[in-house]
Amino acid sequence: MKSRGENCGVFGIVKDTDCVEDIYRGLDFLQHRGQQFCGIATCGGGRIYLITHYGQVGNTFASRELETFKGNMGIGHVSLKERQPMMWQGAVGEIAVAFSGNIINSEALLTEMKDRGEAFYHGLDIEIISKLILQEKGIITGISMLAEKIKGAYSLVVLAQDGVYAARDVYGFRPLILGEGPGTYLVSSESRAIQNIGVYHLRDVRPGEIVFISEKGFETKRQLKSPRRAHCAFEWAYTASTDSKIDGRYVQEARNNLGKSLAERDREEGGIQADLVAPVPLSGIGHALGYHMVSELPYQEVFLYNRYADRSYTQLTQEDRDRMAKKKLSVLRYALRDKRIVLCDDSIVRGTQISEKVRDLKNAGAKEVHVRIACPPLMYPCDFGISTRTYGELLARGFLANGNITTLDQLKVLERWVSERIGADSVRYNSLEAFVEALKMPKESLCLKCWDGKSPIELLE
Ligand code: SF4
Repeated sequence: MKSRGENCGVFGIVKDTDCVEDIYRGLDFLQHRGQQFCGIATCGGGRIYLITHYGQVGNTFASRELETFKGNMGIGHVSLKERQPMMWQGAVGEIAVAFSGNIINSEALLTEMKDRGEAFYHGLDIEIISKLILQEKGIITGISMLAEKIKGAYSLVVLAQDGVYAARDVYGFRPLILGEGPGTYLVSSESRAIQNIGVYHLRDVRPGEIVFISEKGFETKRQLKSPRRAHCAFEWAYTASTDSKIDGRYVQEARNNLGKSLAERDREEGGIQADLVAPVPLSGIGHALGYHMVSELPYQEVFLYNRYADRSYTQLTQEDRDRMAKKKLSVLRYALRDKRIVLCDDSIVRGTQISEKVRDLKNAGAKEVHVRIACPPLMYPCDFGISTRTYGELLARGFLANGNITTLDQLKVLERWVSERIGADSVRYNSLEAFVEALKMPKESLCLKCWDGKSPIELLE
């Protein structure tokens, strides 16, 4: 489970009837990407209607409130860190803006803009992005300018008087997907929001592409030069919902493959004596199923997931994250008494939560717990909008203060070290090579900075 995340979800739609119900439903299907704030903006009759809330979409937007929205086009946002969309008046008229991602050079941009006389409410990334767009005469030029000014990741939606603009940074860090149905054109951070609204998943917005969405459909207004792709590999391992498809690759398939890869390694190393394979729900499920497919160990749930708990990484403080992690899972004692369990999870950050899980299973009667982790050891913080975890929070950094895990022998020593710390009978991670192989994406199209420390942006400078 992750440390603090800054991930968000965006949604936009243009259709032939009022759209607010679709935005509401779309955001509900993106809720796993951020549960602290949500917001909807629509445009109708020449004006923009905007409401944001603290909390989740389903708990905060009342029917009567939804009825106040007018218009057949709009955008929405779910987030951990700030209220979006934000509404602005500019030379282009009234607009609303929302984005998913993170600006690395926000401090420098803020200073530069303040020195020019610009004022900010809070200096949030969304303010910087909006003001950079509004500095230009047109929205397309404004969005294009972001690629020159911003170091970081952004998937963006802009609601204007004539339609919705959608854009992805030139590396394509965060996902952004187009969907189309009868009289309906939409864009979403994940395809699940598209398919569950009942329209077709059309295609991913390309890195550097600016798409205009109107009642006539989609139009690529500009394609900025993309130096390279850098899709966040974490999306497939953890962040995205299992029913989504991102940049041509099903999340479920990727997670199954990551679990299969762990089982294949166990088999190559002589096999494992165990009675069952189980996930840490929810994100460990796909990995555990993949492990089960190859190992043929019975798949059995040993934790019951509390459906009313939020994702632990989308909590603001470490205390909240630990509290949520405890609230999230309860042990299914019947399933595990005297059993040797292979326990699959997506990643280990500090190790606190996985050690609690191991202890809970052993206290409930499990004979052995062998931990299998889909991601390689996390060695670096993310700069691009998934997490603000620090070096000090990363368990693997306690083993290797500098440098990377580059050989299987090194990985095995680390695994023994982690195993002792978390009280497991054994630990295995996927190596970085096995991880990339399982995702079935070209290595050069992925951001792997969490593991190799190479920032896709710095690499190009
Ligand atoms: S650093 Fe890690 S979490 Fe951040 S974008 Fe890259 S792969 Fe994703």
